Amino acid sequence: MSDINANTFYGQQAIKRNKPFGKPSWIQVSRKMPSHILGPPNFWMEFYKQAEALAIAFKESSDFNMLCTFVYQGENGKRKFVVAHPEMYWWHYEHRPAEERCSYEVIPENSPCRLYLDLEFSVELNPESDGPCMTNTTIDIFNAYLLKLWGLPSNVTNVLNLDSSTSEKFSRHIIFNTKNVAFKNNYHVGRLVKSICKDIFNYISSKEEQHDVLSSFDKTELQQLFVETKKEKKLFIDTSVYTKNRHFRIYKSTKWGKQSNLIVSKDCKYVHSTVYNDKELNIFLDSLISYFTSMKGIILFEYFQNGTIEAKSFKRVAQQYNYSNHDNCSSKYLVLDKYISDLIHPGKIRLCKYFSLAQVLMYETYGYRYCENIGRCHKSNNVSLIVNLTSKTVYQKCHDEDCFGFKSEPKQLPEEVCFDIDEEGDTFIRCATLTEDV
Ligand SMILES: [Zn+2]
Repeated sequence: MSDINANTFYGQQAIKRNKPFGKPSWIQVSRKMPSHILGPPNFWMEFYKQAEALAIAFKESSDFNMLCTFVYQGENGKRKFVVAHPEMYWWHYEHRPAEERCSYEVIPENSPCRLYLDLEFSVELNPESDGPCMTNTTIDIFNAYLLKLWGLPSNVTNVLNLDSSTSEKFSRHIIFNTKNVAFKNNYHVGRLVKSICKDIFNYISSKEEQHDVLSSFDKTELQQLFVETKKEKKLFIDTSVYTKNRHFRIYKSTKWGKQSNLIVSKDCKYVHSTVYNDKELNIFLDSLISYFTSMKGIILFEYFQNGTIEAKSFKRVAQQYNYSNHDNCSSKYLVLDKYISDLIHPGKIRLCKYFSLAQVLMYETYGYRYCENIGRCHKSNNVSLIVNLTSKTVYQKCHDEDCFGFKSEPKQLPEEVCFDIDEEGDTFIRCATLTEDV
């Protein structure tokens, strides 16, 4: 059995379009990712300018296939921005030597994100401080606040605790990953974190013993969260990491020139997701601050300056160039959808996926099992239909193991369907021009 590569899936024309723009970097030449039919979009673009990268990431993302912007430091120390699906990025990145993994996730301004904390202190200035213990107290405090403010049951099993401490510096990244919950953006996270820090400070500075959340913690335990810095004594929670388009170091990455890769802490109790067979990939995806497998059904928390809170369901803001399905089993071509529906009747469309660079639509079906490879219906496996929007053809692929790699002869779509595609085509042309200019 051979891997299906993008070539056999999309055809020659797509390969040309999927070629990296500009000079190939270390990443493209290192490994070739076998593409699979439900795999991540085969998208990769590199930029020197962050604004351009963020714009493309936003434009090319849909509610079901989110692209992220990563920044990495190359051999010459120069920063480059990469827009890719995180699964794709991980595929190329994880095999780099440890000292060369210097990558950061860009947390886009005004995009949904997880609650994250950056904890650190100088070991030299705080020889008595017990970092792991302080970290656990901090996690407990934040979980208690999530429960009190939004009624969210969060505990250590959904908190990812990453460590990159050295003998000089204690350093942790804490990511709260509760399914279907996020913050509206990192400004809301920042306000919440600052407000909790202020609460802790006020509580231990006063004689008051009563506090909604903090009185369930021991005051000495809370006092231990304060550390010496060169300037002053302060909490070991860094409140300056909630700024516009913040760069946050990714899993297994180190700062340039240092050997301090972020790894899962020894005392981390996090239970990672099991979407993929690859444990490391699961942890990586879970650790990302602004990546979500699907935005559908996500509840966004908001925290305002005056301490008021909100929880709203996610709605994607309409964007001029943004292509986003109303649901996940139709495209924006009504006539084409109808044509496919009729073709597979009484079967139904289970999923419609759009590959923007290849200009391909993939319809996954259920209840429709006729396969051209065997000339009859399969007993249990459903087939999929692929529409090439450029050549206006449709062909069939199959999920049966015996039909692996099979692609039926493409058939021309009827006139009225072609017309439907052309009507909508203007957006695509503008889109493609924009992509290739930058
Ligand atoms: Zn088949």
